[in-house]
Amino acid sequence: MQDTYRHKGLRKQLIESLRQKQISDEAVLRAMDKIPRHIFLDSSFLEFAYQDKPFPIGSGQTISQPYTVAFQTQLLTIKKGLKVLEIGTGSAYQASVLAEMGAKVYSIERQRKLFIKTKAFVQQHLPYKLNLFLGDGNDGLPAYAPFDRILITAAAPEIPQPLLDQLKPGGIMVIPLGAGDQQDMLRIIKKLNGEIIHEQHGAFRFVPMLGNIGND
Ligand code: SAH
Repeated sequence: MQDTYRHKGLRKQLIESLRQKQISDEAVLRAMDKIPRHIFLDSSFLEFAYQDKPFPIGSGQTISQPYTVAFQTQLLTIKKGLKVLEIGTGSAYQASVLAEMGAKVYSIERQRKLFIKTKAFVQQHLPYKLNLFLGDGNDGLPAYAPFDRILITAAAPEIPQPLLDQLKPGGIMVIPLGAGDQQDMLRIIKKLNGEIIHEQHGAFRFVPMLGNIGND
């Protein structure tokens, strides 16, 4: 898939608009400047790829708005080599941003159709080694735990205890919490002594996190 000067130019404008919305982590902005978001969208949406908006990716799901991706990634304070668990692979755009920043990415998607489509896309078109799993993100990945960072990209009605257990002491979890049509962006810090700190970072809208695996 092509990444033309036009795409690159639109991407620069998007990065500038993120800066104006107080995204200041240069590593996040660099990663998002590098990744051609348009290849993650269906071709009919190509022209919208560099607007700061969410878009449908099939199976009733969306690729998160660039600002939301940037905001969540900034809250995570990603450094090279950190082991990151993402819940809600979707298009794998967010996972790619994490991988571009040097994280070792593990990501879970519960929708089989989307999982298969995204896995094939990643293998064909992306330079990153993403560890993708089909399953219920509420359970995390006990076999690969603990994680330095955990990122939930769907609205969680509550904080899943297994995820909290799989977070390393000194680790950070970012989770949009709330069952209604708006969520509180929560940053949870597990201190080295195990103490848990909650920080609130504003209101966002996410598609709901669902439980058991559908056949869709
Ligand atoms: N991070 C994605 C966008 C996420 S949209 C991207 O960059 O494109 C939220 C995703 O979470 C959807 O794909 C949805 O199917 C998935 N999801 C919902 N509930 C889930 C669960 N319990 N476990 C894993 N994934 C879930």
